[in-house]
Amino acid sequence: MLSTQGAWAAAYTDNIVPVGSVGPGTRGCTTDPDGGDGSVNCLTDNATVYYYMDSSGAFELETPDRNAVKSTMSNEYAPTQLVIHYHTNPVFSGRGETDIVYQEGSKNLSENSLGVTWCNDGSDPDLAKFECDQQYVRIRGNGVYDTSIACHETGHAVGLVHGANASPSKGNEDPKLGCMIRTGWNNDLGANNVTNINAVY
Ligand SMILES: [Zn+2]
Repeated sequence: MLSTQGAWAAAYTDNIVPVGSVGPGTRGCTTDPDGGDGSVNCLTDNATVYYYMDSSGAFELETPDRNAVKSTMSNEYAPTQLVIHYHTNPVFSGRGETDIVYQEGSKNLSENSLGVTWCNDGSDPDLAKFECDQQYVRIRGNGVYDTSIACHETGHAVGLVHGANASPSKGNEDPKLGCMIRTGWNNDLGANNVTNINAVY
């Protein structure tokens, strides 16, 4: 007989907020300063994800950077419960802002970070405790911007955390965490992350 393991099989580990140190008893998602404060604890505000890639100015994505984001969105995130749209006319104020804004640059990144994700607007009163209306992803240029780091930072923007912050806790380099491994190269979202995303959205 075949066992019936599939989309609703238990996750290897719970690595999507609220979890662990950003669990149900904690403060929830807050608006961060530019470049973030090192905490990553927000969900995007619903399953329909509009994203935008900076197309001019200091944080503009060049073609290889854009291709990395487009690839991870279509190959890794679109097959999940998330519904991915590119936002040709991004919204930066009010309620219903563009969900994820991608930048290329190093401003305010800590020395050892290749990229960072932060919440730009966690303050709207109708948002649930762990939801953010708009998150920013900033990734260094000069060859750093690739599908592996784009997959990783996008994971943070939809609420995924590193292995050490998961429940049960796992190593930060556990290969079952797919592109959410902390260092090394993996551009595959992977079954555990997909299961957690699909459980929340
Ligand atoms: Zn990370």
